Amino acid sequence: MSSGILVFCETDGGKLKKTALELLSKAATLGGEVSAVVIGGSVDGAEAGRHGAATVYTVNGDAFGAYSTDAWVKALAAVIAKVSPAVVLGAASPIGKDLFPRLGARIGAGAVTEVTDLSNVGGQVVARRPVYAGKVIATAKVKSAVGLFTVRPNSFAVNPTGGGAASVVAVDAGVSAADLKTQVVEVRKSAQATVDLTEADRIVSGGRSVKSVEGYDSVIRPLAAALRATPGASRAAVDAGYAPHSHQVGQTGKVVNPTLYIAVGISGAIQHLAGMRTSKVIVSINKDPEAPIFQHSSYGIVDDLFTICPALQREFEAVIG
Ligand SMILES: Cc1cc2nc3c(=O)[nH]c(=O)nc-3n(C[C@H](O)[C@H](O)[C@H](O)COP(=O)(O)OP(=O)(O)OC[C@H]3O[C@@H](n4cnc5c(N)ncnc54)[C@H](O)[C@@H]3O)c2cc1C
Repeated sequence: MSSGILVFCETDGGKLKKTALELLSKAATLGGEVSAVVIGGSVDGAEAGRHGAATVYTVNGDAFGAYSTDAWVKALAAVIAKVSPAVVLGAASPIGKDLFPRLGARIGAGAVTEVTDLSNVGGQVVARRPVYAGKVIATAKVKSAVGLFTVRPNSFAVNPTGGGAASVVAVDAGVSAADLKTQVVEVRKSAQATVDLTEADRIVSGGRSVKSVEGYDSVIRPLAAALRATPGASRAAVDAGYAPHSHQVGQTGKVVNPTLYIAVGISGAIQHLAGMRTSKVIVSINKDPEAPIFQHSSYGIVDDLFTICPALQREFEAVIG
């Protein structure tokens, strides 16, 4: 019978990513044994154990150099078959978004995506997720024996449980590079040195009103740098060429869930809100007091962005250094 929670952990340079620690920390509060799975990488059993995992399953081999849907789905399906968890958690990251629906189809499991909260109700894991561009919060549970859930980064705090080192168990998924239908020939990392938008804890986004690439580069990027934040943009700013598409937040851009989101000269169109509405604290800077974004903001500054942003930047530089 299925029981326990398996957390699909992404790693970076041999360390568990923050999203993995968030999921392990939450899983430890939901009841049942927690285990972790790392595909295509090594892992520190001590760190996983400190965050609640009893066992870490690893899958490696020549098929697991760079991420491919094919290899990862087969590997995760093999680990699920071995562990028989009732619940599998992963981040709603680019990999999680690609992997979990495909995995659901392969193993016949229900999948709930873009989850922002999880709880144990009568022994069953229940998820909450925003729908209709965040206007409604749906409560969902899965009826299949295994339930798959992708959770938005920054939804849960990282809380070490103080557990001892997890045992690390290598699993042979029976997948080799020759079995794969696709082959990753090259991975080019973006030149940006900041944290990926979808995982960022702080974001400063600029809108059409920055007026130019120079406006974006001289106002939004320095303010973001002063706050150790990741720069984002509205679609209007991206369409105008002020910022690259990788910076776009919203329905047709990235869905973000930071602790702090600063919207600079952004009106608050529904398609932009769809991407950032679940941010914990939203600060908006807009010279129009009637701008819709203020209805969704924790704090609002009604003024010209070209005056306010440099002033904020100086203050943050003085405080943060
Ligand atoms: C199918 C579809 C998908 C879409 N997907 C997305 C998406 O993913 N992301 C997204 O963002 N949009 C998306 N859009 C576009 C969206 O509808 C809006 O057009 C867009 O978000 C507007 O961007 P903006 O707020 O930067 O510009 P505007 O709506 O033009 O707002 C500019 C704001 O800046 C303020 N302002 C002007 N000058 C200053 C100043 N000097 N100082 C301070 N404030 C100032 C103005 O008062 C105004 O509120 C989508 C639209 C469609 C139809």
